[in-house]
Amino acid sequence: MRALRLRQWKSEPELMEVPEPTPGTGEVVVRIGAAGACHSDLHLMDEFEPGSVPWNPPFTLGHENAGWVHAVGDGVTGLTIGQPVAVYGPWGCGTCARCRVGVDPYCENPAGAPVPGGGGGLGLDGGMAEYELVPDARHIVPLPDGLDPVEAAPLTDAGLTPYHAIRRSWPKLPPGSTAVVIGVGGLGHVGVQILKATTAARVIAVDTRAEALRLAQECGADQTVTSGPTAAEEIRAATGGRGADVVLDFVGADATLALGVAVARTVGDLTIVGIGGGTLPVSFFSVPYEVSIATTYWGSRPELIEVLELGAQGLIRPKTTTFALDDALDAYRQMREGTLEGRAVIVP
Ligand code: NAD
Ligand code: ZN
Repeated sequence: MRALRLRQWKSEPELMEVPEPTPGTGEVVVRIGAAGACHSDLHLMDEFEPGSVPWNPPFTLGHENAGWVHAVGDGVTGLTIGQPVAVYGPWGCGTCARCRVGVDPYCENPAGAPVPGGGGGLGLDGGMAEYELVPDARHIVPLPDGLDPVEAAPLTDAGLTPYHAIRRSWPKLPPGSTAVVIGVGGLGHVGVQILKATTAARVIAVDTRAEALRLAQECGADQTVTSGPTAAEEIRAATGGRGADVVLDFVGADATLALGVAVARTVGDLTIVGIGGGTLPVSFFSVPYEVSIATTYWGSRPELIEVLELGAQGLIRPKTTTFALDDALDAYRQMREGTLEGRAVIVP
C-alpha cells in the first residue's frame, strides 16, 4: 500500500510503497477513510530533531484518523468488519491510573506504551496510508450515526484538543463571560464552534489572516480582532476593561502568549495549546491575580466520545478541504503558506 512517511527529522515526507499491516493479538487494522493534516506535522518536519521527543522517524504521518474496521486480531471482540470508526490517537500503556480513566496523553508509565508520549503518526505508523495498524482495540471508537470518516477524522484532534481545553474551563464560562480564541486554523475554528455549542460565553477570535477571521465569524464568533499591536486594547475595550475569563492560545508564540496575559481577567484561565515555541515570563506583578496558566495535550477517550456526539448532532462541523494522498504535500504547503481554510483532510 502507499503511505506518506517522514523518513528523518528536518525533511519533507515521502509517498512510498510499504507492506499492508496485519493485526496481531488484540490489534485492529483500520481502512483509512480520512486523515487530518495537523500543524504539529509541520513542527515535526521543520523543527524537531533528535531528543525533541522520545521517538524518532521513520514513521507514516497522520495522527487524526477515521475509517472502517478492516481486520481484527485474536481476542478482539465487539467490532464488525466494515464498521465506521474513529481512532483515538494518544496511545498510553493502558494500565496506569491515567490510562485507566481514558487519559492516555498523560500516561504515567510511558515505558509501557507502544511508543512513549506518541501514537500513530507520532513515532508509530499513522493514517496517511490506505490502512493503519492500531495496537490496542481500546483505541477504536465507533462512529455515532450521522458522521462519516471525513467529518470524524478532524474531530479526533482538531476537535478533541480544543474540546478538552474548553471543557476544563467550563466553570469559568457562565453567561456573561468572555472567551478569546487566538489562532483560528484547524484547531481554533473548531474551538470557536465548541465554545458556542457548549457555553454561553461571548467569543472573541484573533488571527493575523482576514480569511481566518471570516471563518471565525462563520463559526459563530461574536467579534473578531486582527492579531497585532492594538489587539489587547481592543479586547480589553470589548470586555468593559475586565478582560477575558478564558484565553485559548492555539499559536503559542511569544506575541500570542503576551497577548493572552494582557487580556486575561483576574481568576481567569490562560490555556496554551499551540506549540509555537514561545515563552512567557511569569512574576508576581506580570500576570493578573489568580490567572491559571496551563498547557494541555490532546484529550481523553471519554471526551472524544462527547466530541463525536457534538459532531453527529450537527452542533459542530469542521470546515474541511480534502486532498488525495498524492496531493498531501500540497496540503502541508498551503498550511505553511497560510492559505488553508479550516482543516486539510487526506482521503487515500
Ligand atoms: P493551523 O496552521 O491550522 O492554524 C494556526 C492558525 O494560527 C492560523 O490561522 C494562523 O493564521 C494563526 N496564527 C499564526 N500566528 C498568529 C498570531 N501571531 N496571532 C494570531 N493568529 C496567528 O494549525 P493547527 O493545526 O490548528 O495547530 C495549531 C497549533 O496547535 C500548532 O502549534 C499545533 O502544533 C498545535 N497543536 C497542539 C496540540 C496539543 O495537544 N497541545 C494538538 C494539536 C495541535
Ligand atoms: Zn498509562
